[in-house]
Amino acid sequence: MSRYYLTTAIDYSNGDPHIGHAYEKVGADVVARFRRLVGEDVHFVIGMDEHGQKVAQEAAAQDRPPQELVDELAVRFESVWQRLNISHDDFIRTTEPRHTQAVQALVRRIQDTGDLYRDRYEGYYCTGCEAFKREAELEDGRCPIHPSREIAWTDEENWFFRLSAYTDRLVTHIEQHPEFIQPETRRNEILRLLEGGLDDISASRSRVPWGVPFPDEEGHTVYVWFDALPNYISAIGYPEAGFSDRWPAALHIIGKDITRFHCVIWPAMLLSAGLDLPDTVWGHGFVKIGGGKLSKSEASLLDLDQLIERHGPDAFRYFLLREIPWDRDRDFPSADAFLQQFDERYNSDLANDLGNLLNRSVAMALKYRDGVVTRSAATELDTVIDSGLEAYDTAMREHRLHEGLDAAMSIVRAANGFIDSEQPWKLAKDPAQEDRLDNVLAALVRALATTAVILEPFIPTKAAEMWKRLGGDELPSLEHLTGELPTTVPGRWDTVLFPRVEKESGGG
Ligand SMILES: [Zn+2]
Repeated sequence: MSRYYLTTAIDYSNGDPHIGHAYEKVGADVVARFRRLVGEDVHFVIGMDEHGQKVAQEAAAQDRPPQELVDELAVRFESVWQRLNISHDDFIRTTEPRHTQAVQALVRRIQDTGDLYRDRYEGYYCTGCEAFKREAELEDGRCPIHPSREIAWTDEENWFFRLSAYTDRLVTHIEQHPEFIQPETRRNEILRLLEGGLDDISASRSRVPWGVPFPDEEGHTVYVWFDALPNYISAIGYPEAGFSDRWPAALHIIGKDITRFHCVIWPAMLLSAGLDLPDTVWGHGFVKIGGGKLSKSEASLLDLDQLIERHGPDAFRYFLLREIPWDRDRDFPSADAFLQQFDERYNSDLANDLGNLLNRSVAMALKYRDGVVTRSAATELDTVIDSGLEAYDTAMREHRLHEGLDAAMSIVRAANGFIDSEQPWKLAKDPAQEDRLDNVLAALVRALATTAVILEPFIPTKAAEMWKRLGGDELPSLEHLTGELPTTVPGRWDTVLFPRVEKESGGG
């Protein structure tokens, strides 16, 4: 069984989870579930980034110990992931002892290679980014990503990492492994950045007590990114030998704003420590609503718990990946527009296309054949199912999740069109069309069973329910699907899979 280790960015502990966090976790969960569906041994890790100046400042502002703040947020994030059915195998927190030990071991190893040296840092530090900034990176004397924050001047004696020494090796690796940074736009951005050469970066902070103690250096903590990035190896047991059972990771999923840390600093740290690089870093785009400037009341419409409640967790997962391409940004003009689009998508795709197809097909199989579906020949719909499956598989393996989803839904749309054109109610009245009716009903059940399996990564609970309504037991893996197609539809259910909702306005 081939192994597939995937991770997401660990979430920074300074506020509640929002749509952007949910989008990333749901997308990663779709990848994890797809890989399990094709029979791989998946290990899926998410977690929390709990150190750094920003957390310390937030805790101080609330007059609480930072540990108390991060404990509370970890519970909050985990409860949302549970509600959204995120199927992670582990949840790593950077305040855990297993993480602290791994970071210190890695720092020591990098120190042994001679890539750390003491120097004085004098310059700007943006606590929003938790990053040092060159003068040239500022706009009007402020961080362009955090224009509302004052940027702080800092002057401290730090340990520095010889990042500049890795420029050429990184360029060579990226050029030789086009799959290393995806999608292509992100890869080009990093190559352009490397063309300009790299500065060495701080590996320690001497004025930030909330962090992993820097080995053998009283008063220093490990710089928060130097602390956060190794979560990908601390979660699988580094430096214990067993960690190499999972490492290197098949996939790091992150937001496009932190590709520099994952495609430059992290691989340079790994190279310095003599460790393998991850196969692929995927930098997804952003969900933007109202140009990123939402009023408080608008933001409250987009509360995650309410969004999950609105049409159920599966519908929210479906909507996120149906509307927001996994490789690009998506803008919604306002919170209202987002909700309206959500309601429309829910009704048209889930209640109408998918839900009705299931109802109609089950009803006809019961009415005309007492639920028993047998086939003697393939139909035009079977051809569409075969090509849909192929398109799905290709898109999903290349992480084009929105296209994989569309390939699955194209089978649903084709099946609805097939009912309209075949008119099984007419076939049922003509004794000469007995075989045709059998084949039409069998193709419809196959279309539904197939979509139940391939939609599982997107709508896990409803997909399993669909499979049961068709007479199946446990959802099979993709390779065993053909052998396990249901042959007897058990009977009607009192409820529908996705009840239609009437038009709502605003949040409700
Ligand atoms: Zn910033």
